[in-house]
Amino acid sequence: MAARTPLIAGNWKMYGRRADLGEIAALGARLSAAKGPIEALICPPSPYLAAAVAAAHGSALAIGAQDCSSVAADAARTGEVNAAMLAEQGARYVIVGHSERRTLLGETDALVCAKAQAALAAGLTPIVCIGETKDERLAGRVEAVLAAQVRSSAPALAALPGKARPEEASPSYVLAYEPVWCIGGERTPSPAEIAEAHAVIRAALGEKLGAGAAAVRILYGGSVGPKNAAEVFSAPGVDGALVGRASLKADDFSSIIFAHPAAS
Ligand code: PEP
Repeated sequence: MAARTPLIAGNWKMYGRRADLGEIAALGARLSAAKGPIEALICPPSPYLAAAVAAAHGSALAIGAQDCSSVAADAARTGEVNAAMLAEQGARYVIVGHSERRTLLGETDALVCAKAQAALAAGLTPIVCIGETKDERLAGRVEAVLAAQVRSSAPALAALPGKARPEEASPSYVLAYEPVWCIGGERTPSPAEIAEAHAVIRAALGEKLGAGAAAVRILYGGSVGPKNAAEVFSAPGVDGALVGRASLKADDFSSIIFAHPAAS
């Protein structure tokens, strides 16, 4: 199994207007300076997907979406957008199960898993977000919560492309470990805590996918910025980052990308 290519993904959330697409063009231009294999991705609000794809054109920067419908087919679902429509706009990835959607919109593990499966069926790579709340951490339930989320939110082997030969099923999907108590704040867990959580997730993935688990990248997300990115990337088992606030500006986000040893 070849080494996993690091992925640094930016989630613009409900920020960033047409006037900000210049940040995408600027970021794309900087990526050519990366020394080794590394993937960079920006997920803008869906109305700007096609314009973001155009802004990134000719660069190595990928564009993704922040959510998709759990319904794969075209259907009577007012306000929903299916994964095939996102792919048609040029999206290559889609975030599913972000904690803001789980908390504010009541998205369940089962719904998140259905969205991830719909994304895979459309040829997109889903980034499935999981992570414990502060109360769950304080109660000593991190391991149980993460293992349960992997079991219930992440697609099974049968949904993966190349399922007949799981060891060749690459790329498959991406998991993002985002401790809810670290999102949008100032603090991140220590590298040891991040490594511990990633090991739990990797073990649960192994139980779920067998040899196919080796292709799944596990990102860390939650208050990653230019100042702490190198420390986050030093944690064993971290295959990249999912970045919110600090992905909005090309300067900040490129500092994070080039803090990864694969890039510089
Ligand atoms: C996120 O919302 O996915 C996230 C990681 O946000 P931030 O980097 O702002 O904490």
